[in-house]
Amino acid sequence: MIMKFKFSLQPRSLKYKLWIVYSLLSVIPFLFFLYIIKKIFPQVSLDSSMLISLALGLGAILMMSLASFWLLRRSVVSIEKINRKAHDFFSDTKNEDIKLAAGDEVETMSHYFSEMMIELQAKMKQANDYARDLSEMNKKLARLAIKDSLTNLFNRAYIVNRLEAEFQRAKEFKHSLSVLLIDIDDFKKCNDNYGHLTGDQILQQTAILMNSHHRLIDILARYGGEEFLLIMPEISIAAAKKIAEKIRRSIADYHFTSNSATGSIRVTVSIGGSHYVSGMSKYEDMIQVADQALYEAKRKSKNKVIFK
Ligand code: GH3
Ligand code: MG
Ligand code: MG
Repeated sequence: MIMKFKFSLQPRSLKYKLWIVYSLLSVIPFLFFLYIIKKIFPQVSLDSSMLISLALGLGAILMMSLASFWLLRRSVVSIEKINRKAHDFFSDTKNEDIKLAAGDEVETMSHYFSEMMIELQAKMKQANDYARDLSEMNKKLARLAIKDSLTNLFNRAYIVNRLEAEFQRAKEFKHSLSVLLIDIDDFKKCNDNYGHLTGDQILQQTAILMNSHHRLIDILARYGGEEFLLIMPEISIAAAKKIAEKIRRSIADYHFTSNSATGSIRVTVSIGGSHYVSGMSKYEDMIQVADQALYEAKRKSKNKVIFK
């Protein structure tokens, strides 16, 4: 470390300067006082009573100067303490660039103060950067917690929560609500024929197709491996069936592609739908009914929409 502290009376020290100023302040007025007396009253001889008065006057001036010096010295000692703490602080931060200011204690303190302001600004910027990174990270984590990484659709945990809430809303306010369970037909065969990577790409493309056929307020999620759940709040059965049919047809008509397979691949889905009816007591009832409908669609040669 370059800095070195000395607390003695160096010529640069404020204590030294104060000592000179106060010595002069106490002697000069006294000498001036003597000079005036001698000039105005040249006949005055310095008898013993005069000498005592002068000695007392000089003593009073000296005492006052010393008292002022003592008071100012105390302030300087406080500044020295501050400087010593600043010195320790910069020693801890290993900031070799901070050199001792060329000047007295006040100048040194002002130097440290401006260095500390620079350090503080840098730290504040660093803290702001950390806070921004942390907030980005939290947003990412929050997104990851509710999203399926392969299809970028919502995950099962999220959609189950949403269904529970939508079911309660439908029940309480007598709103309409439909759900669709969408399952890719013979997906196992698809994997066997084209490989698992192609299977993944088909899942991704299916997700995009489905997403482009439901309304903005609907919620689509990957419910299981090759099974999806679509929640459609505030919808009539007829409108829900129409959307289900659009999804089914768009997938059946689509020519799926993959990096690892030549030509296009055809895939179909079976869809089981259920609509909220007042007898239903819990959200699971809607999934159960949709599952029964899906099972029936599978039984009836697949690539079908069945509502129950
Ligand atoms: P069904 O028409 O009766 O639905 O027949 P299926 O073959 O589609 O259904 P099954 O339940 O027998 O098989 C589902 C297949 O989906 C098996 C599994 O390997 C595959 N699968 C599940 N998740 C993934 C995934 O993330 N990627 C790939 N590539 N395949 C998956
Ligand atoms: Mg399937
Ligand atoms: Mg399945």
